Amino acid sequence: MSVMFPAFLDLRGRKVLVVGGGPVAAGKIDSLLAAGANVTVVAPEIRPEIEQLNVEIVRRAFRETDLEGAWWVVAAAPREVNRSVSEAAGARRIFVNAVDDPQHASAYLGGVVRRDGVTIAVSTDGRAPALAGLLREALDAFLPREIEAWLKTSDEARRRWRAERTPMGARRPQLLSMLNALYASKSHIPTSNAQGTPFAAVALVGAGPGDPELWTQRAVRYLRQADLVLYDSLVDANALRRYTEAQCFCVGKRAGRESVRQETIHRVMIRAARQGKRVVRLKGGDPFVFGRGAEEAMALAAADIPFEVVPGVTSAIAAPALAGIPVTHRGSASGFLVLSGHATDAFENGLRAVQPNTVSLVVLMGLGSRGELAEKLIARGWDAATPAAIVCGASMPDEWIWTGTVAKLGATEPPAGIAGVVVIGNVVRVRERLVAAEEQKVMYGRNR
Ligand code: SAH
Repeated sequence: MSVMFPAFLDLRGRKVLVVGGGPVAAGKIDSLLAAGANVTVVAPEIRPEIEQLNVEIVRRAFRETDLEGAWWVVAAAPREVNRSVSEAAGARRIFVNAVDDPQHASAYLGGVVRRDGVTIAVSTDGRAPALAGLLREALDAFLPREIEAWLKTSDEARRRWRAERTPMGARRPQLLSMLNALYASKSHIPTSNAQGTPFAAVALVGAGPGDPELWTQRAVRYLRQADLVLYDSLVDANALRRYTEAQCFCVGKRAGRESVRQETIHRVMIRAARQGKRVVRLKGGDPFVFGRGAEEAMALAAADIPFEVVPGVTSAIAAPALAGIPVTHRGSASGFLVLSGHATDAFENGLRAVQPNTVSLVVLMGLGSRGELAEKLIARGWDAATPAAIVCGASMPDEWIWTGTVAKLGATEPPAGIAGVVVIGNVVRVRERLVAAEEQKVMYGRNR
């Protein structure tokens, strides 16, 4: 099967004939004028909006002689008229673009994506215009926002290559490294909204265990770009103010106030996104670890709101790590299980997944039920002497760490009002060894 020959036409100062004076014709004229064409419109009836344009108007039926001097013809008239235009143009070797009338056309326009100085035209050789439309949208989304900078760089490069007679083979790698250099200068934390690709309407962002130094670079950038931030109570609100000028609302539990209902959070996110706001939903740790992040993702998906997940440093791994406890360690634990201690039945169910004393166990939301959890562990065959730790307020100024055994978990009193994880397993001994080795001067994560 033969394929179409793609080309871009220089229409500046050239006569283009448009046959037809209705809305279809009107829709084509703007782009012809934008390309610098001298447009003549022929039709018995011509819409006022066409008359107002910078075009020559011929108010009568099409005649073959209208083609005189034309380089390009647009047939946007009823089919019978298009047919006679097509025949007459064919005889004169002039290409005809017949709008929505492929039978009478010899030239077809592609779906066009234009960004700054770059034009991409998509064709399916007339086989699937709907697909061409989809591809057009996809390409539009794919084109970098900063294409103008690419163009400028490439243009400068071309001038230099000419002047320096750079061999062809050397040009491409040079251009690639020049384009990469455009981004190298952005690898540090950006300082303005203008830098980097903006995020989808809503970003579900992980905020790590607490210390803003453990926020990801992407989290910081998105916060800077945000119009609205909905954050959990575990997020440091003062730090937040330093990173964003967005409206910030705490939707988590606060002294004396219950947390905002999950459906309300969904509704607020969806409404703001529909108003064109960029919303950051900032959640402690990783958004998909016991954070109801997936529920929010599904609500957004159901509402057709584009969203993105920005993973965070989860307290399940970071809290032990900051206390010098690895969740895995050769010879001690070849894996780890993260469980919620919030509902003890569910905790017990989770325990069934593993043989006692084979993996490390990290329990989130389990401080309140720590005694009960210890009992369940022992009842399921875990050794009462298994090392255990509690790490509260990891990465925060009020960090508090205890180590002991499963048997002593219940009797230990962690400070009230600070989030903490319980770690169970031989990996806890690593901290004890590190502490001994460092003579109580363990420095993990931060200098203190
Ligand atoms: N999505 C979060 C967890 C949310 S559940 C994450 O990935 O970390 C809340 C639980 O996280 C708390 O009950 C506590 O067990 C734990 N947690 C959060 N921040 C903590 C911190 N700074 N130190 C210790 N535990 C923390």
